[in-house]
Amino acid sequence: MVPLTTLDYPGLLACVLFCQGCAWRCRYCHNPQLIPARGEQEIPWAQVLAFLQRRQGLLQAVVFSGGEATLQGGLVPAMQQVRQLGFRVGLHSAGIKPWAFAWALKATDWVGFDIKALAEDAELITGVSGSGKANWRSLEHLLASGVDYECRITVHWHLLDAERLWQIGQRLHAFGVRNLAVQLVRSERMYDPSLPRVAAPADVSELWQCLEQLFPCFVLRTD
Ligand code: SF4
Repeated sequence: MVPLTTLDYPGLLACVLFCQGCAWRCRYCHNPQLIPARGEQEIPWAQVLAFLQRRQGLLQAVVFSGGEATLQGGLVPAMQQVRQLGFRVGLHSAGIKPWAFAWALKATDWVGFDIKALAEDAELITGVSGSGKANWRSLEHLLASGVDYECRITVHWHLLDAERLWQIGQRLHAFGVRNLAVQLVRSERMYDPSLPRVAAPADVSELWQCLEQLFPCFVLRTD
């Protein structure tokens, strides 16, 4: 649990709950300790609720992050309890299981949604067959739901070149995505430590300009 952040829910003071467990193995994952189903640090839900009750009127939102929060059987009831306490509910997800993601959307006010790659390329990043199809199916659920969102692409230049990134941008635009953030990978800790460090292409600023023109809301995060 991160008790206070201004970065994880747009415009609101939030607390972030990192849910343990993920079924994918993204080579650049910067929270590899959250991938196993059980973690070293576990906080009883009653303790989280007690903390939130003490923060009513101070915090505005609670963000369920991971790992992949939608794999938790107790996610939706937990979100509902958080809402009943008067907080907005945020979700960070890659939509690993589209039906579970769609179910969680019903209790969510804002989503930070990870797009891994073009559907046909995602396995190269996640290591899991079918992950691209699930990722893009969940994106369809998100856009159909009307829930507020930001789509995010994490870029490791060894796994995604500028041409591919532009293709993803075009496909997202065709899907109807209007809010996009590109975040350059944090390479100090990754699931696959053998991933080589690769410099950005020399002409990358042209790509950022093109993406800026394509999306009404485009953000580049470099740290
Ligand atoms: S980056 Fe990939 S492996 Fe890591 S939590 Fe997200 S989906 Fe799972």
